[in-house]
Amino acid sequence: MQDTVLLNAKKGNVAHAILLYGAKDAREEFAHALSKTLLCTGENKPCGVCGSCKRFEIGTHPDFIVLEPKKSKYIRVDDIRELIVEINTKPFESDKRVVYIKGAGTMNTQAQNALLKSLEEPPQGCVFILGVLKKDELLTTIISRCAAVKIRSKSIADTKNSLMQNGAKEELAHIVSYMSVGTDISATELIKDKKKLELRKEAIMACRVLYRSGGFAYVSKKFKEYIDNAEYMIDIMETVFRDMLVFACGAENIINIDEKQVIINGATYFTKKELLEILQIINALKQQLCYNVVKQLAVEAALLKMMEVKSS
Ligand SMILES: [Zn+2]
Repeated sequence: MQDTVLLNAKKGNVAHAILLYGAKDAREEFAHALSKTLLCTGENKPCGVCGSCKRFEIGTHPDFIVLEPKKSKYIRVDDIRELIVEINTKPFESDKRVVYIKGAGTMNTQAQNALLKSLEEPPQGCVFILGVLKKDELLTTIISRCAAVKIRSKSIADTKNSLMQNGAKEELAHIVSYMSVGTDISATELIKDKKKLELRKEAIMACRVLYRSGGFAYVSKKFKEYIDNAEYMIDIMETVFRDMLVFACGAENIINIDEKQVIINGATYFTKKELLEILQIINALKQQLCYNVVKQLAVEAALLKMMEVKSS
């Protein structure tokens, strides 16, 4: 599917709205390859030598518009309105223009509704590419207007190897490549992000202390402090409880290999049933956070539910 889309794009056949869904690193890579191909003015697209390809490679192509959340964590209706004004002017370079909406799931409902008409009747030569982890992050009205393309994930081993070739230590390469599966975390971005790696420790600590006395106060305070990264912290907590369950089931393929003792302790402290329940609560919370909720309240409610699993 993915290859067909690229082949067709080389010939100039492309839907005017394409929805890419799948793991972040592979998705970004494909979105770039596709955009470069669409914008290339040479013969064998992407030729790599035309002015368009060159500008694309150094990140200064004027007709490649990338939209992602700015000040807040969301793409808002005003961002979409600005975009619509921009795409209704003539392209600079050629007759083509590509709009890549990165993490399209961060568009709130209003923003998605504002985009609908442009997706249906885009200005001439304009192609929209929307990227998400899972299709259901978007309104069905958006999905129905796009040609959906499932993105093949890179294998964990490939991701790990390429990180190590770039100088990452094996343990860390293992952790981040596993984490990039099933979450919207990019392994290549995460491994360079010191702040996120420190936050990971906080999230693991949260899993450790939640079930101790005073745990709730500690963890909810931490979430308050890092509320902008609540989704990420929850993703990490999910991997920790997932590891405990995996370990309790006798399997060895745990993600957080640097925290093995935490995993082993958890696997003995909780029953498998309890771990499953905790994972379900985390999953429900993740769904909830996709919508406009007061994050702190949603997190605290979920934390309380997670604690009840043990006391009931
Ligand atoms: Zn070219």
